[in-house]
Amino acid sequence: MTINKVLIVGGGIGGLCAAIALRRVGISADLVEIQSEWRVYGVGIIQQNNVVREMQRLGVLERYLDVAWPFDKVSLHTMEGHPLANFPGERLAGAQFPANVGISRLKLHEVLCSTAEELGTTITTGKTVDAFEQDEHGVDVVFNDQTTGRYDLLIGADGIYSMIRGQLYGNRFTPRFTGQGVWRYNLPRPAGIDHLMCFISEECNCGLVPLAEDLMYLFVTSHEPENPRFARHEFAEQMRCRIPDCGGMISDLRHQIVDDGQVVYKPLEELFVDAPWFENRVVLIGDAVHATTPHLGQGAGMAIEDALVLAETLHSDDDIQRALSNYYLRRRDRCYRIWRDSLRVGESEINNDPLFDRQSVIRDMMMFTARPI
Ligand SMILES: Cc1cc2nc3c(=O)[nH]c(=O)nc-3n(C[C@H](O)[C@H](O)[C@H](O)COP(=O)(O)OP(=O)(O)OC[C@H]3O[C@@H](n4cnc5c(N)ncnc54)[C@H](O)[C@@H]3O)c2cc1C
Repeated sequence: MTINKVLIVGGGIGGLCAAIALRRVGISADLVEIQSEWRVYGVGIIQQNNVVREMQRLGVLERYLDVAWPFDKVSLHTMEGHPLANFPGERLAGAQFPANVGISRLKLHEVLCSTAEELGTTITTGKTVDAFEQDEHGVDVVFNDQTTGRYDLLIGADGIYSMIRGQLYGNRFTPRFTGQGVWRYNLPRPAGIDHLMCFISEECNCGLVPLAEDLMYLFVTSHEPENPRFARHEFAEQMRCRIPDCGGMISDLRHQIVDDGQVVYKPLEELFVDAPWFENRVVLIGDAVHATTPHLGQGAGMAIEDALVLAETLHSDDDIQRALSNYYLRRRDRCYRIWRDSLRVGESEINNDPLFDRQSVIRDMMMFTARPI
């Protein structure tokens, strides 16, 4: 094996999973995270059957499920609450494990971060790369604290505004605002909300994601064509007024959105790098190369899969250029399809397209992501 020491830039879901996946195949990693303190949103994330399967391969499934809410089916409703469709999930990790989960982003971060550290990854916060230079055999790095290091490989897992991507491609690939935003808020979980429930209307789509016995989160995707900036003191009111007053469970929940500080708002941006995701000894994973909208709930799923495939290709091929090329070839089309189809759902909402068959896009995605990576 020609790879012994790797630098991972970015401690999000992709970077932490890469650290774990590499250690599982005997490759050690240092990870640097630019934020001096972890800033993980207090809301949750949907992880579908492909992610549950990959958590098993990462060797973290039990501790992950301990802090997640398990569920099998996903249901689709009108905004008033009338049922439209059910999408049964496949238990890809084994019959004894759930198909899907809802999990707090903080809890997921704790599981991944503690596992990476227990496996020997050195994680340093408040640290980033100021400059790097690569040659045929490795990468020389200068960090922002003026320390230096030499690595066999540098992995850019630094998200949609990736600095590492900028070093490779300049301004060739930059994020685009899609015209929508997502509002999220944690709420107490009523007993009946035991799986992911989505609610659609012409103005917006909403969802309820159970996270724990006493917790769920509500998300609202809204049209924001001018990409407005909101003052923190108006967040709760802005979120409330994006939920239609049409009767039914979702309308009723509006009144519980009262704390501006607990609202998480995110304008949606996308980016796809349509060029190889590596150059010599530098490779990119996750949102740094394929950031999409959350309409299919698969962005983090693709970052996690990237991490595993990269570790696998590096482990199975002594020729690093061939290994990186295999990683790119195995990931490109899968990530492209999720990126494209997520955007298509968002565009159908923006254009209020009556012919768009949302249900078959969801079914296709579920069948597609169930395939092995
Ligand atoms: C509203 C919304 C809802 C979503 N819901 C879901 C969902 O339900 N399911 C799902 O699968 N996906 C979802 N996603 C997508 C998912 O959040 C992302 O795809 C995923 O977080 C990408 O992980 P990443 O590690 O590639 O990047 P990031 O999570 O962006 O992590 C990058 C990390 O790198 C650090 N960093 C940045 N620059 C530097 C630097 N120069 N040096 C060092 N560190 C740096 C950052 O601080 C950060 O910690 C959602 C996205 C949005 C916007």
